[in-house]
Amino acid sequence: MHSMYKRSVRRALAFGLCLFLTTGGTLPLAAQPPQQPPQPPQPPRPPIETKEVFMARARAQVEANTKLRPKHRRKARNVILFVGDGMGVSTITAARILEGQQRGLLGEENSLSFEKFPYLAHSKTYQANQQVPDSAPTMTSIVTGSKANDGSLSVAPNVLGNDFAAAALPENRLRTILEEAESRGLWTGVVSTATITHATPGACYAHTPNRETESDADLAKASPEAAKAGYPDIARQLVEFKLRPTKMNGKNSPGLEVALGGGRAKFLPAATPDPEYPDRTGDRKDRDLTAVWTQNGGVYIHDKAGFDTIDPATTGPVLGLFEPSYMQYEIDRPKDKAGEPSLTEMTEKAIRILQRGPKGFFLMVEGGRVDHGHHAGNAIRALTDAIALSRAVERAASLTGDDTLIIVTADHSHTFFMSGYPTRGNPILGLVVGNNPDTGLPETAPAKAKDGKPYTTLGYANGPGAVTEARADLTGVDTTAPSYRQQALVPLNSETHGGEDVVIYARGPQAHLFQGTLEENATFFVMSRALGFWK
Ligand SMILES: [Zn+2]
Repeated sequence: MHSMYKRSVRRALAFGLCLFLTTGGTLPLAAQPPQQPPQPPQPPRPPIETKEVFMARARAQVEANTKLRPKHRRKARNVILFVGDGMGVSTITAARILEGQQRGLLGEENSLSFEKFPYLAHSKTYQANQQVPDSAPTMTSIVTGSKANDGSLSVAPNVLGNDFAAAALPENRLRTILEEAESRGLWTGVVSTATITHATPGACYAHTPNRETESDADLAKASPEAAKAGYPDIARQLVEFKLRPTKMNGKNSPGLEVALGGGRAKFLPAATPDPEYPDRTGDRKDRDLTAVWTQNGGVYIHDKAGFDTIDPATTGPVLGLFEPSYMQYEIDRPKDKAGEPSLTEMTEKAIRILQRGPKGFFLMVEGGRVDHGHHAGNAIRALTDAIALSRAVERAASLTGDDTLIIVTADHSHTFFMSGYPTRGNPILGLVVGNNPDTGLPETAPAKAKDGKPYTTLGYANGPGAVTEARADLTGVDTTAPSYRQQALVPLNSETHGGEDVVIYARGPQAHLFQGTLEENATFFVMSRALGFWK
């Protein structure tokens, strides 16, 4: 519990700091949202549909389903696994409405790109030792086929806590879908807007009982004994990843062919100034892992200009690290000093590189900061990053054909809720404005709670936005502003994950195996079967 407590405090500090940095220092206090003038009136929204429009839309969906014919024998050449970290059902619903409203629609009738995929299943996200899970064991489930314990990346559920000695035993290492693919000669890659050594990408290529050991400095803090015994930290495991080498430009490529994300500090030494923030340095005690990558014949880039010079048709293995820690939230990205590629741009570059693989590829793409927006109680950042993930999926779908299984899922949910009785097309980030029961038309003022104050459609069961005394009066508050933090019930430094099921969406070969309510670790077996690894 102690380490869990420490971890949650560390995370809370990190999230708080991130929000502080990315909102120009206007971190809102829980009970005192910023008193900003209301938004200018929005342009008139489209009229509500007629019965003909409602029926035609729904009938078209069912007609499309009547034409579905699962191709049972079809093998996938490639698998692309998208993970929206923390992207539960309420997040998908709210993101779909926000994206629709950004395009001038009422919003509710909109669909995110992956919601048009033909197959889906429910995913039971509990982990081996916890009812409401964290990203390390849930991603372990998805990529190895076994559930695991809190903190664990791709080690067996009999390894508990900080037990590096047990994790080092070969029988306790869980082989991941990425390792299996790489060992069979497929090309592989990971993309994330979090650090590339974070739980979700990390579980694909690393094995550790402690997800916090992203650098050797982290490892020395977490377990001096493990550090002394030479247990490799997660960044080292990425750079030293070795299985059967594949040939890239005629040269051996023993590791991943592409890794794009944040987390530069986990690779750079403590003596090396960061190229984007000269007042900051790397995190490592031992050596410069970006130099190890280039010595091995790879290419290392750290900004948008470097990213743009990468020709996917000719490049060697690419390591792109665009921030010392997490990459920017999508809505803050335009303000980034050195410039960062978007999740869509990273996804496209990774696919174009991996499409050169003669035997196919496995790619994992994480929208890593949906989760961070929620932990900060800041719905707008979570939702706009979920929309960014939807765009990346759309691009991936347009770049690949019917030889590619595309999966979109979440590792876990959040305590995020959408409630009240807002009128149709009510701004999803706004105050609840109900309908007048007599006219059926929208009221002219926000609905009032029992305390006489208005309330938002979106909120959290717990987190930093918790109401501890009298609830703040939201009258005249711009709840759609990027700095606004939704109200919550239970006060916690960091809003927590939610324990209900998440959804797995899929298209392509063997996508029809996603049916019903599945254990989260079933995703591994669909991917490995689709790739022909078992029958
Ligand atoms: Zn989280």
